[in-house]
Amino acid sequence: MAPLRQAIIRGGLESLYFTGAHAALKPLVGGVGVILTFHHVRPPRPQRFQPNRLLEVTPRFLARVVELLQRSNVDLISLDEMHARLNAGDFRRRFVCITFDDGYRDTLQHAYPILKAARVPFTVYVATSFPDRLGELWWLALEAVIAENERIGLPIEGENRTFDCRTVAEKRALYEELYWWLRSRPTEAEMRAIVRDLAVCYQVDIAAFCRELCMDWPELAQLAADPLVTIGAHTVSHPVLAKLPAHNVRAEMDLSRSVIEAALALRPEHLSYPFGNPAAAGPREFAIAAELGFKTAVTTRPGVILRTHREQLTALPRISLNGEYQQLRYVRVLLSGAATAMWNGFRLASAA
Ligand SMILES: [Zn+2]
Repeated sequence: MAPLRQAIIRGGLESLYFTGAHAALKPLVGGVGVILTFHHVRPPRPQRFQPNRLLEVTPRFLARVVELLQRSNVDLISLDEMHARLNAGDFRRRFVCITFDDGYRDTLQHAYPILKAARVPFTVYVATSFPDRLGELWWLALEAVIAENERIGLPIEGENRTFDCRTVAEKRALYEELYWWLRSRPTEAEMRAIVRDLAVCYQVDIAAFCRELCMDWPELAQLAADPLVTIGAHTVSHPVLAKLPAHNVRAEMDLSRSVIEAALALRPEHLSYPFGNPAAAGPREFAIAAELGFKTAVTTRPGVILRTHREQLTALPRISLNGEYQQLRYVRVLLSGAATAMWNGFRLASAA
């Protein structure tokens, strides 16, 4: 996310909080519940160049969020329970569901002990190529290439271009530029090929990120054995689904469910779309997930759950508690729904 946009969002949250506006807006925009998104939960790292830091929170922050939620007048429930309540139209109590994307080992190491001690249910969405050790966490490979080099050469539209990345500021700017340039490649295959070439050229081992950061099947089995844990699907190869032909989208969703079933003897009924923004998952993906019989599917579009979402169970918004907003006062504002309503221009207010 661009620093300016971050500053605006942060400023907006601050002003909402300090004016008390979030409390006044709550009855209008609070919705019936919230699904929270997490990625990594791990102790802070010292490096100044951490472009993917927006995908992590500290264990201490997670513990404080759980504490705050348990003191608030909300139910911490599983996705199955949320699904049942939405279908039954049971909106007597506001709910919060906690979800983790990707299946990182720190979910087991750092998040699980906190949630288990507090007896809080949660979901882990697994991209099956990660425990199968075939996955490409290409955004981390890009980060490593930029972190470890002072200048990078890359053929762009047939022309060999070079980029300086000596200082932290240059590295941040280059990461932002190349990340979104890669995301805008017309096909997933083209994007992957470019990152693979970069990794080979600059001696970054893409496969190592899976081994080092993601749970293997025995570790996932350990989590899956706990009734507090729901294992959800997150496709096989973690692609931008919207760029694939429909039959591949169907295969990515369906096959990931079958692979998890074969490995863990449980059939996932909930799905998370990789990346999950409007450019990565739209109406076609929502329809395919529904056709395949998933009970729910989540995006990363920011928002609270409204009564009307019972008609759109495979297009559910979530709220990300990311690395940029690790302050509990932000959590209170985010949970009130006021912040997402602000981002959505208050269009939600009429739908609530
Ligand atoms: Zn993911």
